[in-house]
Amino acid sequence: MQTDWLLLRCVCGQSFGARRGSKASCIRCGESKQITTAAVFSDPNKLTEAVAKANLPREIRDEISRKLDDKKRRQLKTRNHANSSTIQFILGQSTDERGILTLSSLHNILQREGITDPSPEQIIGVAELQGVVQRVGNEEWKWLA
Ligand SMILES: [Zn+2]
Repeated sequence: MQTDWLLLRCVCGQSFGARRGSKASCIRCGESKQITTAAVFSDPNKLTEAVAKANLPREIRDEISRKLDDKKRRQLKTRNHANSSTIQFILGQSTDERGILTLSSLHNILQREGITDPSPEQIIGVAELQGVVQRVGNEEWKWLA
């Protein structure tokens, strides 16, 4: 049988958790009658989380959700900042059938994908360091991977 875990809220403002069917009384003021059930969980870990969140002062809660919004906005703003799997893809796209990669082909693909950061030079630099490409001529690299 599944046990339900309750997020309870006391009239004094304190939130706390209890197992369904247990005699619950407020951990702050001891009140046991004027208690409302705010949420029900089947996972006690979820309940613990919810209790912690419910007891955060409102200012902190607002601050946290503001920070999350900021983070989301920043993520949107840095969409043309490529991650490593995108760079792998870009390198693959820039390499011709002979396995040759040039600075200008890399530049073209980056432009096509709308990526401004990192630059083609930076990408080549990292790929060279990782031993993925080897310089074979003037602004030409051979794909080794
Ligand atoms: Zn209370």
